[in-house]
Amino acid sequence: MLIKPNAVKNGYAHEIFLMVHNHGFKILAQKKLQLSEREAQAFYRVHAGKPFFQGLVEFMTSGPIYAAVLEKDNAVTEWRTLMGATDPAKAAEGTVRKKYAESVQHNAVHGSDSDENALNEIFFFFSAREIVNAGGDIYQLHDILKND
Ligand code: UDP
Ligand code: MG
Repeated sequence: MLIKPNAVKNGYAHEIFLMVHNHGFKILAQKKLQLSEREAQAFYRVHAGKPFFQGLVEFMTSGPIYAAVLEKDNAVTEWRTLMGATDPAKAAEGTVRKKYAESVQHNAVHGSDSDENALNEIFFFFSAREIVNAGGDIYQLHDILKND
């Protein structure tokens, strides 16, 4: 998952991590960083060519973000549920985006959309040795995700 620049700037990162913790996710890795333009383009490459792509890249590089690896049974689905709909106007009560998103683009958090993409996104941001409970073993991590 990512906490996007607007939420970090507004000082919501701690509260968002608290929500994550309170909903039973284990945080296996966490870091604060700022994406370069190239990195943001690569991270969101599935959206390349869409009308919002350039704006999204500019937004995602506009300030520091948090990247984190979350563990829970069915983590991808569970985090997408807690995160809420992409458009905060459609996000359910009690979701992160309902609370902290400002608009469709400035929607506070990112979540992977499949186990396979989660694995790719995890290794976009982290090396195996930074992921505590995987014991530095990427195959073990792969199993954790596969068993979700
Ligand atoms: N986005 C946007 N305009 C749109 C659709 C999406 O700016 O019309 C941004 C928004 O920040 C979103 C991200 O692009 O979170 C990725 O879009 P996706 O459809 O994958 O939504 P998500 O998986 O983040 O809910
Ligand atoms: Mg998505």
